[in-house]
Amino acid sequence: MQVPFLDLQRQYQAIQHDISEAIGRVMDSQAFSGGPFVTQFEEQFAAFCDCPYAVGVASGTAALWLSLLALDIGLGDEVITVPNTFIATAAAIHFCGARPVFVDVDDATFTMNPTLLAEAITERTKAVIPVHLFGQTADMDPILAIAAHHGLFVIEDACQAPGASYKGMKVGTIGDAGCFSFYPGKNLGAYGEAGMVVTTHPKLAQTLRALRDHGQEQKYHHALIGWNARMDGLQAAVLSLKLRHLDTWNTLRRSHAQVYRDLLKDCEHVMVPTEADYAKHVYHIFALRVPGRDTCIRVLAKQGISCGIHYPVPIHLQPAFRFLGLQRGRFPVTERCAEELLSLPMFPELQPAEVQFVSQEIQRMQPEVHMRQL
Ligand SMILES: *Cc1c(COP(=O)(O)O)cnc(C)c1O
Repeated sequence: MQVPFLDLQRQYQAIQHDISEAIGRVMDSQAFSGGPFVTQFEEQFAAFCDCPYAVGVASGTAALWLSLLALDIGLGDEVITVPNTFIATAAAIHFCGARPVFVDVDDATFTMNPTLLAEAITERTKAVIPVHLFGQTADMDPILAIAAHHGLFVIEDACQAPGASYKGMKVGTIGDAGCFSFYPGKNLGAYGEAGMVVTTHPKLAQTLRALRDHGQEQKYHHALIGWNARMDGLQAAVLSLKLRHLDTWNTLRRSHAQVYRDLLKDCEHVMVPTEADYAKHVYHIFALRVPGRDTCIRVLAKQGISCGIHYPVPIHLQPAFRFLGLQRGRFPVTERCAEELLSLPMFPELQPAEVQFVSQEIQRMQPEVHMRQL
């Protein structure tokens, strides 16, 4: 049996007919950049998030970057995030001119450790970006409390978590702005690039709409210096259609996670992911903690099972961020995540037999195989 880490074909086959129709409608209208399909998807996504405003943009990275710019964050400012995330979170901070400042993650959830947040705040700090990693929300209440106390904006990096919730609140709507990615491999994937910012602040939504479109509210009248970060009409039409399935797809991800969890909970050589009691996890990634992860990956690959690593190098140790002068040992939980996390195959269309097979192969592995690497 071959089990892929992710197979986008299976989802496409199931909705192929509807997709062709949706693409056909865009072709008929020729509304390729911005336009009615984008507006419609924004309304649908806002409703999905229980949020008044949604602004479609070109990518998740653009969503983060424009949110920072719209909040007037720039040169000389500091923005706090975690080193245990995809590089775009930190890159967006850098590209608005601010300095990324990292705090380590919680050992159980791998999301921002709120107890470390307060000590990272300086008089230059303007915002905090918690990341809802792997589909699980960060512990927002203490983060919001600290941010409010210091007058900081909170931008949620919800790129991996559309449909997840925190104490019953949909992600993206908890802070000042919530950023989503529709990169093809994400829970809600476009057939190209796209992203979204949701917010409850009308003024912020208005600024974002201008910034994504060369700073213009009226054609060729530029109150701001903006960028071209518009959403593509074809992507919006595809995403409108796919959004109708997102809750079902997330439910399937959760049920695969439950099977993995049940079958692997007694394996002493692996640790299943923690589901925090405050969170509804949507399992963008199902990551086991495995001492001797690299051996484990090789053994599984021999059995035809493809796994992923999220992420092999923490951001503070990436050559690109060397200028921050952060040494190994500085963020021990994140560094251990980079060494031990192993992402199992996870996508809605995964078959029960495949989940069973993967779990069985992990169960069969001799603990010594893992421990040899310790
Ligand atoms: C995917 C992702 C992004 C970037 O989104 P793109 O659409 O690829 O630009 C940012 N942050 C996190 C946590 C992500 O997973």
